[in-house]
Amino acid sequence: MPWIIRDIEPWFADGVEVRSSIIHGKGLYSKRLFERGSDILRIGGCLFHISERRSGYVMPSTTTPVSEQVIMAERVRGSKDYSDYLNHSCDPNIGFRDAISIVAIRDIPAGEELVIDYAFWECDSAWKLKTVCNCGSRNCRQNVTGENWQLVKPTDECYRYFSPFLKRRILALAEKGNTNDAR
Ligand SMILES: [Zn+2]
Repeated sequence: MPWIIRDIEPWFADGVEVRSSIIHGKGLYSKRLFERGSDILRIGGCLFHISERRSGYVMPSTTTPVSEQVIMAERVRGSKDYSDYLNHSCDPNIGFRDAISIVAIRDIPAGEELVIDYAFWECDSAWKLKTVCNCGSRNCRQNVTGENWQLVKPTDECYRYFSPFLKRRILALAEKGNTNDAR
């Protein structure tokens, strides 16, 4: 068996829907106001060891690392859940509360696309967004890659919305930087 745990049930809040997106293909949209901090969805799928990422058992584009060693993803003949339609923005309105739960970063009015910064979980140095980002935000990075998390500091506002395993990496990197500065 290629998976560790199979068929973890996803969850999403009332008032979230999949629609065609201006950013890319389909996206998630709010149908009502979501207040800052409110639950949006919980990622589902199967847990795989990270070495299975490109093994053919995992549906590409549904992969979310949940720890250094484990990814959540759909099986190749499984069906997508809402989290698999999340589009990227360099100015996200949703982020992680824990490894699989996603919450509103700010008040989100009805009709807005729910967008996340892929850097919140993506750390595969071989991965990058296939096209230049056109999220239109003032701080758009244009090239969105699996190394973007390295640009973040623990004091940045967005830090709290990173997946917990990446927060630990960001902390470790910052501590290393401090040690080097002191020399
Ligand atoms: Zn952007």
